[in-house]
Amino acid sequence: MASIQENLEKVTAQLPNGVRLVAVSKFHPVEELAEAYEAGQRLFGENRAQELVAKAPELPKDIRWHFIGHLQKNKVRAIMPHVSVIESVDSVELLRLIEKEAARIDRTVDVLLQLHVAQEETKSGFSVEEVLEAGEAGELTEGLPHVHVCGVMAMASLTDDMEQVAREFDLVRRTYIMLKDGAFDESEYFNELSMGMSDDWQVAVKYGATLVRIGTAIFGPRKY
Ligand SMILES: *Cc1c(COP(=O)(O)O)cnc(C)c1O
Repeated sequence: MASIQENLEKVTAQLPNGVRLVAVSKFHPVEELAEAYEAGQRLFGENRAQELVAKAPELPKDIRWHFIGHLQKNKVRAIMPHVSVIESVDSVELLRLIEKEAARIDRTVDVLLQLHVAQEETKSGFSVEEVLEAGEAGELTEGLPHVHVCGVMAMASLTDDMEQVAREFDLVRRTYIMLKDGAFDESEYFNELSMGMSDDWQVAVKYGATLVRIGTAIFGPRKY
């Protein structure tokens, strides 16, 4: 079996310039994250608040933690001191709460707006209509001095049909551009398109991903 370092090298060698890798380390022990860190990896993704809060103090301070899971309102305060980017903002209400908690500890935090484009109902995120409406109403840009909205994040459907996946990534890209030219046309921060996982990141890169979130292809299968 290939080592974490070899897996990382294999993925990063294929990433075009300007596309950054978030190593999705959920369910993997800190020893494996340390191995990725030693190999040069600095962006890590976790999807559970407790796990991020437990791992962050165990590892070097220059790691940038991306929160990528559904974020419960009562967990925002706990992750705020540790997190670099909250990729999974799925409501205006959550965005307001993130502003409040960032202000409370006097920091600014980067966030992405999660879009729901997949077929599975279980995935969370704004619908395309919702995010465009919220943008037009100023709800994503006004009164957020401690939040930098840096772009959008999405997951494609869990399917082998790569044409379906491509259509979904294309919809994400087009929605990103509408927001960038619309609600965020004066933002210097709105530049990130986070999409693509172990099985579909090559497709995501074709559709303009700037961040890919890869777990299994680096760390192997998760031991739940
Ligand atoms: C788990 C997860 C990933 C990584 O999935 P892999 O298939 O293991 O690469 C990416 N994004 C999100 C939001 C995840 O929850």
